[in-house]
Amino acid sequence: KIILGKNGVPVAENFRLEQNTIADRIQVGQARVRTLYLSVDPYMRCRMNEDPGSDYLLPWQLSEVADGGGIGVVEESKHQNLAKGDFVTSFNWPWQTVAILDGSLLQKLDPQLVNGHLSYFLGAAGITGLTALLGIKEKGHVAVGANQTMVVSGAAGACGSLAGQIGRLEGCSRVVGIAGTDEKCSILVQEMGFDAAINYKKGNVAEQLRQLCPGGVDVYFDNVGGDISDTVISQMNQNSHIILCGQISQYNKDVPYPPPLPPDIEKIQKERNITRERFLVLNYMDKQQASVLQLCQWIQEGKLKVRETVVEGLANIGAAFQSMMNGGNIGKQIVSVSK
Ligand code: NAP
Repeated sequence: KIILGKNGVPVAENFRLEQNTIADRIQVGQARVRTLYLSVDPYMRCRMNEDPGSDYLLPWQLSEVADGGGIGVVEESKHQNLAKGDFVTSFNWPWQTVAILDGSLLQKLDPQLVNGHLSYFLGAAGITGLTALLGIKEKGHVAVGANQTMVVSGAAGACGSLAGQIGRLEGCSRVVGIAGTDEKCSILVQEMGFDAAINYKKGNVAEQLRQLCPGGVDVYFDNVGGDISDTVISQMNQNSHIILCGQISQYNKDVPYPPPLPPDIEKIQKERNITRERFLVLNYMDKQQASVLQLCQWIQEGKLKVRETVVEGLANIGAAFQSMMNGGNIGKQIVSVSK
């Protein structure tokens, strides 16, 4: 259960764990599921506001059960398409160890697609992977042989770590990441195939970027906004493209989404004809099935390296959310609720 914050930094204490009972019996059309994995994501910060600021997000209600992406196993079913033992997922999984859900809202999962690594369906083979892949395809204008340089901010996070690798798979000749620790930067280069990475908490980002992207920036996968993005945009080429994935540096502030650029940066954007269109993965769900298969194929072929940061126990979900918002994760932040 949650206590809503308004503005400011979310903390674990915004969430409260309570014990409760569920109905003894399930109704026709329902399934009783045991929760295996839950996802904590930056957009949830917006659901902690009374007005989440967008029409596709509902605010979490004070002292009601929170919900988000989840995966579980069916323990009992009275829904025609679901059987005991099926693995299922939903975007609106209640943060409970066990739940009775409407079977028609659950999607079945095939563990073989991810070599048995079910939690990947919340990350690399789920919304996160789709965001990276479809963001690049829909807004990146990446072309094989075009010798493009891609920069990714929030690069060691769930979306960012995939975006850099997919940028390369789709044809970028140079991929540079920006992330918050030296450890993250070295993983990006040594494990994920980035050409270079910049720790934005150390040294001068503009200077390092100029050295690492001598031909300028053609595609910018933006997860963070704010000063980092202003610096990258200043070094973008004529007719280049921003993939406006997210603006996490602004989520604890009361600003509209997407936040407007400062006037000097907006001037650069306009003069250089840099595209900066809003991207929302939920608008492309007609491409979900084919894209998930593509992501799973890359994972199986070892072309897409996946990292997760796993916290154990429902009691720790608030702490996991707080940690993710503060950079505690490498790759996708997952909460493991039961085995
Ligand atoms: P994530 O990147 O795994 O986790 C968030 C990361 O943001 C942290 O690890 C932290 O890493 C970084 N961060 C936090 N505060 C920051 C700040 N002030 N400045 C710079 N970096 C900061 O989360 P994710 O789920 O992959 O989401 C990444 C972005 O994609 C978010 O903006 C999210 O809203 C967006 N998103 C968009 C869509 C869509 O449809 N458009 C879908 C999913 C996600 P560091 O250590 O590097 O600071």
